[in-house]
Amino acid sequence: MPEPMSPARLLELDRQHVWHPYGPMPGRQRPLLVESAAGVRLRLAEPAEGVSELVDGMSSWWSAIHGYNHPVLNEAAHAQLGRMSHVMFGGLTHEPAIRLATKLVEITPEPLQHVFLADSGSVSVEVAIKMCLQYWRSVGKPAKQRLLTWRGGYHGDTWQPMSVCDPDGGMHSMWQGVLQQQVFAEQPPAGFDAEPDPAYVRELGELIARHAHELAAVIVEPVVQNAGGMRFHSPGYLRALRRACDEHGVLLVFDEIATGFGRTGALFAAEHADVAPDVLCVGKAITSGYLTLAAALCTSEVARGISEGELPVLAHGPTFMGNPLATAVACANIDLLLSYDWQGEVKRIEAGLRDGLSAAAPLPGVASVRVLGAIGAIQLERPLDEARMAAASRAAIRNGVWLRPFRDLIYTMPPYITGDDDLARITSAMVAAARASES
Ligand code: PMP
Repeated sequence: MPEPMSPARLLELDRQHVWHPYGPMPGRQRPLLVESAAGVRLRLAEPAEGVSELVDGMSSWWSAIHGYNHPVLNEAAHAQLGRMSHVMFGGLTHEPAIRLATKLVEITPEPLQHVFLADSGSVSVEVAIKMCLQYWRSVGKPAKQRLLTWRGGYHGDTWQPMSVCDPDGGMHSMWQGVLQQQVFAEQPPAGFDAEPDPAYVRELGELIARHAHELAAVIVEPVVQNAGGMRFHSPGYLRALRRACDEHGVLLVFDEIATGFGRTGALFAAEHADVAPDVLCVGKAITSGYLTLAAALCTSEVARGISEGELPVLAHGPTFMGNPLATAVACANIDLLLSYDWQGEVKRIEAGLRDGLSAAAPLPGVASVRVLGAIGAIQLERPLDEARMAAASRAAIRNGVWLRPFRDLIYTMPPYITGDDDLARITSAMVAAARASES
């Protein structure tokens, strides 16, 4: 065992050497040092705001749907560890990956038959895009190289996904002109329950038609634009995309990395529209946050196109592809999800979020409150600067909850195992954070 280190020493080393997400080096903000986590609670190595245990309102960036230290997932990881934690996937295969791929094919829309395992969401989007471009090249249409998406989206931080993130408001706007120039439609009108706007649908169709000769694919997050602003739109727009893509010979990619595995109240958000994409990306909740894993699924048509083309292989093969530990936990996690009334639990959380967040709507500085499935967001009237962001986070911590507000949003995506009392704690903390951000 290494020499124990004090929290102060660890944090000093962290500041000196560890680069944190979306931050400068050295970091300006002191992160909280987490000692352990169980259920929906994070235990801190030293108290923050006098609090040493926080209810996790973030599910570790929306992944830990079954919370931490879950006995079933622990058992799956331990059992696999005793067999092998890793083995290369080129020329070798193994039961956990085979079982997982089969399960994913079973639970996703029927045309999706083939699974490419990747090691993170962004990489699965890279693979999805490579599949689409290569498909068209293979079938003799190499000019189809661009992508179309709508504004307000987010698809990851590696290069190709960055090119389809929101070009203005997003984190990657400084790279405009360096990234490949993609085709952007306006952001879809807001509102899950709103009737699709015929004018928007027409414009979307016209844009796809106009660029069809150079478009490999349309890529969108179905139903919820997540990191782009927690905005919901009508499933009707997904049906419109499917129709236009079919009519004009363009592939359709759904990025369900954030929405997959029940988050919106359907197992996959595509089900709200009863639409199947040609390629589907999943990740995040696939292992309930235990290990990093994602996948790009595709239809037989896409797979056949690639495999009969000029380079009849998909030239992609990450070192940790199909990692046995990750795929074994993913299998156990999906079995766990399907073993209880997850839909009832997500509905219960939805009702709790609606109830608890209603107190935020009349507050000064709050523009709107919205809830869909196990997603709840308070939209502020103006973006949070660093000081207001810190005030909002501190208020949440004082209320015993871990939140990470961003831009003009205070939001939660809690684990599905969050009980009613903890859920009420999360919503109270969000309301307190909204208040603190204005005072
Ligand atoms: N797509 C979507 C919709 C996401 O929300 C994210 C992560 N926030 C990604 C892609 C990228 O996934 P990862 O962080 O695992 O690379």
